Amino acid sequence: MFLDTAHTILPIEFQGREVMLEAHAYEDDSVSYQAMALVHRKEGSKGEAPLVRVHSGCVTGDIFHSLRCDCYQQLQKALEKVTESTHGIIIYLPHHEGRGIGLVNKMKAYAAQDRGLDTVDANLSIGAPVDARDYELAVKILKDLGTTEIRLMTNNPLKVDALRDLGITVVEQVAHVVNPQRFNAKYLATKRERMAHKL
Ligand SMILES: [Zn+2]
Repeated sequence: MFLDTAHTILPIEFQGREVMLEAHAYEDDSVSYQAMALVHRKEGSKGEAPLVRVHSGCVTGDIFHSLRCDCYQQLQKALEKVTESTHGIIIYLPHHEGRGIGLVNKMKAYAAQDRGLDTVDANLSIGAPVDARDYELAVKILKDLGTTEIRLMTNNPLKVDALRDLGITVVEQVAHVVNPQRFNAKYLATKRERMAHKL
C-alpha cells in the first residue's frame, strides 16, 4: 500500500506533437519518497510485456540538459520509444538524484571530477557510495500498475538484477545507448569500464 496516490491524463508536447499519457503519482512513507509513472497504452495491447524505463531523477540533466551526464538524452529516448509502443511505462524517481546520493553530494562529486577523478572515485573521495539507489518503490509502482513482466530499457545489469530480486520478471533487456558527447565521454566510459554497463 502507498501512503497516497492519484492519477490523471497528462497531455504532453513531444517532438512537435501532442501525446496523451496516463500519469500516476505515488507517495510512499514520506514526501521525500514520491514518484511518477507515465503510461502509454494503445488498444489491443493486452498481454504483451510493456516496454519500461525506470529513470533516476536528475535535476541538472533532465531539466537543464546538462552535458555532464546522459540523463536527458536517455529520458528523451525513453519517451520516444514509449510513445511509439503499444504499451510503455516510464517510472520517474526523483529521490534517485545523483544515483541516490542527492543533489549536493552530486555537485561535490562533480567538483572532485573537475580535479581529475572519474565518477566512481569522485563519489568515494567525498565519502558517498558509488550507487545508493533502491528499486523498491519502482517495483511497488509496477505491481500497482498490474505489471510484473517487463521489457526493460537499460544498459545497467545491476538494475535488471535489482528488479528481478524484487519479483519482477525482466523478459528482455532492451539496449538504451545514447551517443557520447564532449562533456560526458568520460562519464560514459566509467559506466562501461567500472560499472559493467553494456555500452
Ligand atoms: Zn544526470
